[in-house]
Amino acid sequence: MGQSLLDINDTLGQHAPSWYAASANPFPELPQAEGSMTYDVCIVGAGFAGLSSALHLSELGYKVCVLDAQRVGWGASGRNGGQVGSGQRIGQEELEDLVGDTLAKEAFQIGVDAADLVRLLIKKHKIECAYKSGSIEAYHKKRYDKYGPIEVEHMREKYGYETMQFLSPEEMSEKVGSDDYSAGILDTHTGHLHPLNYARGLAQAAIDAGAEIFELSRVTSFEGGKPCKVRTDKAEIFAKHVILATNGYLGNLDKQVADRVMPINNFIVATEPLDDATCKALIRDGECVHDSRFVVNYFRISEDNRLLFGGGENYTYKFPKDIKATVTKPMLQIYPHLKDVRIDYAWGGTLAITMNRLPHFEFRSDGVINISGYSGSGVHMATMAGKIASEAVNGQMAKFDIMSKLPTPKFPGGAALRWPLLPLALTWYAMRDRF
Ligand SMILES: Cc1cc2nc3c(=O)[nH]c(=O)nc-3n(C[C@H](O)[C@H](O)[C@H](O)COP(=O)(O)OP(=O)(O)OC[C@H]3O[C@@H](n4cnc5c(N)ncnc54)[C@H](O)[C@@H]3O)c2cc1C
Repeated sequence: MGQSLLDINDTLGQHAPSWYAASANPFPELPQAEGSMTYDVCIVGAGFAGLSSALHLSELGYKVCVLDAQRVGWGASGRNGGQVGSGQRIGQEELEDLVGDTLAKEAFQIGVDAADLVRLLIKKHKIECAYKSGSIEAYHKKRYDKYGPIEVEHMREKYGYETMQFLSPEEMSEKVGSDDYSAGILDTHTGHLHPLNYARGLAQAAIDAGAEIFELSRVTSFEGGKPCKVRTDKAEIFAKHVILATNGYLGNLDKQVADRVMPINNFIVATEPLDDATCKALIRDGECVHDSRFVVNYFRISEDNRLLFGGGENYTYKFPKDIKATVTKPMLQIYPHLKDVRIDYAWGGTLAITMNRLPHFEFRSDGVINISGYSGSGVHMATMAGKIASEAVNGQMAKFDIMSKLPTPKFPGGAALRWPLLPLALTWYAMRDRF
């Protein structure tokens, strides 16, 4: 098998060199899949989506296995910004224009429930992942300020969503110590967490509920049918359903999904630990922050007082040689006074986007289910996708039907052409941020 995003930037069996890996709760290495085995459901991918599917299916009494080419939480789930969103990835008015009020409302509620689900799972399974409440959207252009109060009012009036609060430029500058931002919005229904610890906690809960998880078990091919068949180098698995929860690391495993869901890379740095006063000057009340740029900057303070700053994307398979330099550039644009602060960790990861930034849910008649394409908003939505997929296997299709009604068109030219064309388009959008 040729090189893919599963191995081109990483070493087999090792987590990315992130602060998360360095500070994670201990977790055992799990066995490889071997021989011929039969399950009700075979899940490909041990990120939030696959682990949540496994947990919820096991709780419903299904016999389940999860196969991961690497390790539990090795993909985007164990190395992301840790920001727990609410609702869908795109603005609600945009969603209304795209799909109409009824579907927009249903999809929004699923996204709101998804944030609650993350908190519920943390509490129920006693997952130690340092959850902290609150996130801020910071406007990088003054002309956006007038839309803030309109959005807050729209969400309150039309959706009864009461947790958003407009931050004037003065309030913003008190909360986020950067001259780069004007006004913004605070949402207390959202929050942030240590993503690798959250993934490990979900995995432990799934194992406790009866799921079997296999690591270093890369799926080389699969086919739907009665039963579905899934192959690794050492195992052949028969199951009534296969759930593809591979997100940005899908590669060529399934062309139908690859036509609609595209991988992009994103990068994060962790500074050295900072003193309390410096942390408070960066983000006074400890929320996480993301800004309004097309290539979003997102940041927060870790449990041990580091600034975790994410920014910069690239659209080639390979990560840039100097990730530290790639991310330090936007970081110093936001916080120029950190120029002498040491960067202790720098890493990248691969997420998956769709054409219109809505997740791609697919339930095929041959037993294959796909959940992916969270477009940078997967901590809550991939967790929820796993629960919704488990309900669908159990014959409860209501939420799966809502999610699969959201349009996720093919990229122009499908999987083959999207690679040369899409980077050009995305680079153009990224450049627009600078004007
Ligand atoms: C740098 C970065 C920052 C991000 N920040 C945020 C954020 O702050 N908030 C937010 O909500 N979202 C964020 N995201 C997105 C979020 O991390 C993802 O949407 C989410 O983790 C997707 O979860 P998943 O389980 O679908 O996929 P993943 O966690 O990527 O897991 C997929 C798994 O599938 C496995 N796999 C793939 N192919 C095979 C195969 N053939 N055989 C076996 N296993 C296979 C992989 O090894 C991997 O472990 C970020 C992503 C990145 C990369």
